[in-house]
Amino acid sequence: MADRDPRTFAIVGAGLAGAKAAEALRDEGFGGRIVLFGAEPHRPYERPPLSKGYLQGTSDRDSLQVHPPDWYAAHRVELRLGTPVAAIDRRAHELVTGEGDWLRYDKLLLATGAAPRRLVVPGAGLDGVCYLRRVEDSDRLRSAFHPGARVVIVGGGWIGLEAAAAARSAGAEVTVLERGDLPLLRVLGPRMAQVFADLHRDHGVDVRCRTTVTAVRPARTDPSRAGGVALADGTELDADVVVVGIGVVPNVDLARACGLNVDDGILVNRHLVTSDDDIIAAGDVAHAYHPLLHRQLRVEHWDNAVHQPVVAARTMLGRAADHDRLPYFFTDQYDLGMEYTGYRDPDARDEVVVRGDVRAREFIAFWLDSGRVTAAMNVNVWDVEDPIRELIRSGAQVDAGLLADLDVPLSRETVGPGSRGRSAPG
Ligand code: NAP
Repeated sequence: MADRDPRTFAIVGAGLAGAKAAEALRDEGFGGRIVLFGAEPHRPYERPPLSKGYLQGTSDRDSLQVHPPDWYAAHRVELRLGTPVAAIDRRAHELVTGEGDWLRYDKLLLATGAAPRRLVVPGAGLDGVCYLRRVEDSDRLRSAFHPGARVVIVGGGWIGLEAAAAARSAGAEVTVLERGDLPLLRVLGPRMAQVFADLHRDHGVDVRCRTTVTAVRPARTDPSRAGGVALADGTELDADVVVVGIGVVPNVDLARACGLNVDDGILVNRHLVTSDDDIIAAGDVAHAYHPLLHRQLRVEHWDNAVHQPVVAARTMLGRAADHDRLPYFFTDQYDLGMEYTGYRDPDARDEVVVRGDVRAREFIAFWLDSGRVTAAMNVNVWDVEDPIRELIRSGAQVDAGLLADLDVPLSRETVGPGSRGRSAPG
């Protein structure tokens, strides 16, 4: 580690992005003071297992930790847990905690994350209406998912479907309520969204689309608890637990209150700098300019919280760094494992090219816009992320027939137009 540096870098948000930023600052040789503020009482932890292995009881709490407990002291990262930051005085370069303590910073990273969007219908505040964001939420659901339990899930997004898989695997009776035509329709488009609807139906989930919840009904035996939901078409469903997964809202209050530019997240440039040169933002809360995709993008996935902080740290240190990594995420549901790389505009008139067997759920789907790959999803097919990234980043035209041909290696040279599908002459 370099000699002591007189500067203080503050990080607000002790989730994955905040913890990874502290790590990256030390990796980059920053020798000054790092103070990491977290609203939750826990050391930084990873959230993907909360709706996957941890929820299913196959991994334990320790495995969620971003760093071992002694890492923070060993790297002189001052952890202020259970200490939400209440305000930022940009002119004085100071922040104030909810307890009234203040800290002067030289650079400030906002990694405040996002919070679940709340269901706003009568009865939504009853016990038994659950969200899934924090480790305690996952603990609560884990004990609620058992054989015979009636689980109603509002929202067919990633939380909804992963929770459905966990609940079904625990033997519960599960209904997923999706307001659109199919779960995941905006992200995946109709053909690939159908794959997930079929997957859940094949595992006994009652997937109901084009339906909205109008109220959560109290239980007959205990009116303080949820006992079911009412739907817009007049249907009533009994439930022991109602899981709400209808998206997240970025935590921008602090940024907005101190006058930073905010629009569906904190607006940052390609270096992750906000409208204040000394304040940087990363993770779920950052609405960042993506130089490869030529647009502002707010990415809510784990991979973004791992990689953006490295750019944030370099930027805080005044080193050249661009955030141009392609979005990436993964899911595990029953026996289906999937990785998704890239970004497809939900409103694009794109074409889906499939390589492999959709029925067997072993394939890669490519989204092509004007003959170029914008995104790809590999389902139960592994070790293809690098060529997929290369295909997308190159922006090269591809031949859909070659792309779909399992005998043609997956590379820009072999699937480009005019190629005969061979990676090397002879
Ligand atoms: P999500 O993936 O954005 O899905 C939300 C779903 O709820 C969408 O289908 C949305 O439909 C629907 N919805 C929105 N408002 C609704 C309403 N008022 N009533 C009914 N349905 C409504 O969000 P999520 O599943 O809640 O997940 C939360 C965050 O965690 C997301 O950022 C997600 O990416 C992340 N996460 C990721 C993974 C993973 O990468 N494997 C796993 C879990 C969670 P529309 O599309 O029509 O708006």
